[in-house]
Amino acid sequence: MAKTAQAAEIENPRVGKKNEGPGGNGENGTGNENAFNPFSVALENFDHAARLLDLDDNIRQQMRLPERELTVHFPVEMRDGGFRMFTGYRVQHSTARGPGKGGIRYHPQVTLDEVRALASWMTWKCAVVNIPFGGAKGGVVCDPKRMDRMELENLTRRYTTEISNIIGPQRDIPAPDVYTNPQIMAWMMDTYSMAKGYSVPGVVTGKPVAIGGSQGRDEATARGCVYVIAEAAKYCGLELRNARVSVQGFGNAGAVAARLLHDEYDCRIVAVSDSTGAIFNGQGLDPHRLVEHKATSGAVAGFSDSEPISPEEVLTLDCDVLVPAALENAITKRIAAKVKASIIAEAANGPTIPDADRILFGNGKIILPDILANAGGVTVSYFEWVQNNTGQFWQLDEVNARLKEVMIRAFTELQNVARKFKVDSRCAAYIMAIQRVHEAIRFRGIFP
Ligand code: NAD
Repeated sequence: MAKTAQAAEIENPRVGKKNEGPGGNGENGTGNENAFNPFSVALENFDHAARLLDLDDNIRQQMRLPERELTVHFPVEMRDGGFRMFTGYRVQHSTARGPGKGGIRYHPQVTLDEVRALASWMTWKCAVVNIPFGGAKGGVVCDPKRMDRMELENLTRRYTTEISNIIGPQRDIPAPDVYTNPQIMAWMMDTYSMAKGYSVPGVVTGKPVAIGGSQGRDEATARGCVYVIAEAAKYCGLELRNARVSVQGFGNAGAVAARLLHDEYDCRIVAVSDSTGAIFNGQGLDPHRLVEHKATSGAVAGFSDSEPISPEEVLTLDCDVLVPAALENAITKRIAAKVKASIIAEAANGPTIPDADRILFGNGKIILPDILANAGGVTVSYFEWVQNNTGQFWQLDEVNARLKEVMIRAFTELQNVARKFKVDSRCAAYIMAIQRVHEAIRFRGIFP
């Protein structure tokens, strides 16, 4: 069973499962079986940047690996009255700079190595935008599209109970990720609170506003991404008005990024995809009508003002800005050689493998790396947590103004680091993050 295979990966966190990306390893041409393992990718990026820094070797070793990993196998009562076993994970990569922070992913292909990678990216992301959180991530191996509301609620409440001894508002704070949403955060918050005997809104972020969520959290990942796209466009002299944008993944991050780029920057959204298909319109798709179409039909395919294209074309077609906003390993070596966009804004976590990075940077592309480009979500999660812990409620304008300040400051700092170290933007982001985490661990020391 898949569960046993995933559990077996715990043995050696550095050698991950052969997790093939689109086209498989032959297509990537590296002969490296870890090329598509997200945790191998995360470690490769870490090691590359760490080599350029004068780090304490003990602290470097400590930063490479997660602090704590929990695997849980639990029963869930299903609609037919029977029980099914599920496997879930919660990984805390680092709590050196503050409580663990990171989303929960529900997906049939979740693996422990994927959750490890996502947890480490949360550590680096929180450090890049300089918010006082560490990094964590969770996942449950399930197919939420084939579960009804009652089954999802049962699964969420039982998973929350299973991980409740390591989460908490000062320990580790979950949030939404792929195929999880504010409703799921509400069930997590309620389950945790019922066990405590009082409401603990700060145990999760990304909650509905009615129970302590923040204004602007639903749009924050995309909004933060769009703020740095606008900065990058200024930097490279790209006029965003009428710029052609292609978006892979029309979910929370991708659909909102498309709408904001369309509404606030007059961009033309020429192509989008989701897990079921991809569509194109050279004159521009209307993201508002497309959201309605997807809400009623369940897919972007079949939208009236569009023609179908292949999922790969979304990444390689002629456009100015490419927003990968789906899953890891989207941009392989083969695809990278065909990418035409000038700016690649990684709304998704880990969409580009290192071999592809080298080609993109070699071709002069501007990459807004994931640990900067999608940090808007965790930044507003931090604002939500601050509001929960201080009993405040900020208006939307205040949230967005603070978010913009954080994102632009991080973008500017990243440019300075890239210039100082003469490195590409991904390496610069890792350097910024590693230096901050290293400093925190050095001050705290290793106990006992
Ligand atoms: P979501 O579940 O709202 O949307 C995911 C979208 O990707 C869906 O439309 C799905 O159909 C599509 N998709 C899945 N597989 C695909 C494929 N192979 N090709 C094209 N589309 C595909 O999830 P989300 O929250 O928008 O997350 C998307 C990415 O953004 C993930 O990498 C996630 O880790 C990252 N992210 C999300 C947040 C957040 O606040 N939600 C924050 C930071 C990073």
